[in-house]
Amino acid sequence: SAGTMTEPPPPNRAGRASALWRRLAQAHPGFGNPARFFGADQISDSRWVIFTVTTTGAEFIEQLSKLTNSEPGLGGLVTLKDSSWLLTLTIFHQPEVIGQPSGTYLWWGYSLYPERTGDFIKKPMNACTGAEILEETLRHLRFDQLLDRVMADSICVPCDLPYVNNIWLPRRSTDRPPVVPQGATNLGLIGQYVELPREIAFTIEYSARGAWEAIRLLLKRGPAPPPVYQGQDDPKALLATLRVFLGL
Ligand SMILES: Cc1cc2nc3c(=O)[nH]c(=O)nc-3n(C[C@H](O)[C@H](O)[C@H](O)COP(=O)(O)OP(=O)(O)OC[C@H]3O[C@@H](n4cnc5c(N)ncnc54)[C@H](O)[C@@H]3O)c2cc1C
Repeated sequence: SAGTMTEPPPPNRAGRASALWRRLAQAHPGFGNPARFFGADQISDSRWVIFTVTTTGAEFIEQLSKLTNSEPGLGGLVTLKDSSWLLTLTIFHQPEVIGQPSGTYLWWGYSLYPERTGDFIKKPMNACTGAEILEETLRHLRFDQLLDRVMADSICVPCDLPYVNNIWLPRRSTDRPPVVPQGATNLGLIGQYVELPREIAFTIEYSARGAWEAIRLLLKRGPAPPPVYQGQDDPKALLATLRVFLGL
């Protein structure tokens, strides 16, 4: 659910898609264990709050580029590792979206521990307005002198995602159903919660591969998807990783 500059995100309603999965799993074995991912007790481990900032002033992006010594779109994610919420910021290459007017800038951030109390705004992030999240971010960056200008020039829209990280929660191999559950002849399951051995979830590739598999298995048509790339067996990737670890 999304909030505004002056309102925190409203509480989320239970999702219809997970309710459908629960109904299927209750009625048939082999449809996995949705409670492992969508149980109410999982939320504190799976919640993120993300926020998108649209600003008509260049000062924030200029200051951050100076601080990180990287142009918008060229630096990596910037994690404020001492922030209780564990804030991370991304400064996109501008313009980021089609039709973005010149002189308008867009950046984005997220937090992995939004239920913790903020360091400057003494509330959990999921209870914060966009303005409060922006202020917490600016104060962590020690951009206090920019605060009034950035606040006046910016719209920060927070969005509460209570389940987003559940894809990565510890699980058993039977917690996610296969693309075609045993015995099914006219039903394929797609998306991030099907079991695709060795593939990495939370990616577009994961959903594309699942859909490809579903078509191939149910319609018995078309080639199999290519084998899943295994970076740990790729000498080039291993060398590149080593370079990063050694700071070369
Ligand atoms: C913050 C964030 C950052 C990400 N970053 C990356 C990244 O950098 N790289 C990457 O590869 N992946 C990334 N992902 C993951 C990627 O976005 C998803 O894995 C991917 O979009 C899932 O695709 P999908 O088609 O399975 O589902 P979705 O994109 O969720 O599409 C499902 C669609 O079904 C619709 N729908 C739901 N219920 C119904 C209904 N009852 N009737 C009709 N329609 C319905 C929804 O509205 C939606 O449009 C990110 C995800 C998030 C949240």
